[in-house]
Amino acid sequence: MHTLREVLEQTQKNGVAVGHFNIADLVLLKAVFASAQELNVPVMVGVSEGEREFMGVRQVAALVRSLQEEFDFPIFLNADHTHSLAKAIEAARNGFDAIVFDTSELPFEENVRQTKEAVEVLKSINPAILVEGEIGNIGTGSEIHEQAPDLSRFLTTPEQAKQYVESTGVDILAPAVGTMHGMLKSMVQGETKKHLDITRIGQIKSAAQVLLTLHGGSGTDDEDLRKAIAAGINIIHINTELRVAWRRGLEDGLAKRPQEVVPYKILPFAVESVKQVVLSRLRLFNSTV
Ligand SMILES: [Zn+2]
Repeated sequence: MHTLREVLEQTQKNGVAVGHFNIADLVLLKAVFASAQELNVPVMVGVSEGEREFMGVRQVAALVRSLQEEFDFPIFLNADHTHSLAKAIEAARNGFDAIVFDTSELPFEENVRQTKEAVEVLKSINPAILVEGEIGNIGTGSEIHEQAPDLSRFLTTPEQAKQYVESTGVDILAPAVGTMHGMLKSMVQGETKKHLDITRIGQIKSAAQVLLTLHGGSGTDDEDLRKAIAAGINIIHINTELRVAWRRGLEDGLAKRPQEVVPYKILPFAVESVKQVVLSRLRLFNSTV
């Protein structure tokens, strides 16, 4: 069984990226795992603070570990957007493979100071854990938004990225390069797409020489995602697209089985709906053509 670091370094050599999908229940986990298994590609599952609270920190760690062990499969668990050291420590102690330590709302110097401290503390708990830090602004919740916030002023600069990575010792950097969390209604309907600053990604990669994560990947133009991977993105986060598919699949199951009360006869509709999204994203992220 390879470590997450080995998997990320190998995918970087191969010119592909690892898909990261948020889960909040067993439907989402089943869909993500089945898709990765079907395509035989490594995968990351992420749980935000809210998702962790719902599933249980120790419980979600046990579920993911059970899949790693039973199937000897490269599925890894990430503590997504963790805003306090206490919650990061809790995830590290429960065996998470990676942690996104997110104090990006703070002024740059304070973000650096707190992230550096978190890296030291988390590595003392588990030297193999990967710590991701964030600079710039990539918006808030993975939900459907009425309006697009103007985040162009908060894009990460290559100089900042280099300084941040060198000062904090993070393994992975989440830069702001054009995406935001969540989707607009027009993106859910497929009418508009997010676009990325590919040149900036390339400049950040050469300046910071570090693994890079793209957050807020839902609703992004496929061609931009391909170019972003070629420019140095190693992990791509998809959450809102899964949430939309989860809800649609659930509604479909309820509509098709109006009298049904057996959960395992309704929920497979949601699993299948989510799976179609995960398969499509994993095919794109792992394609070398
Ligand atoms: Zn994110």
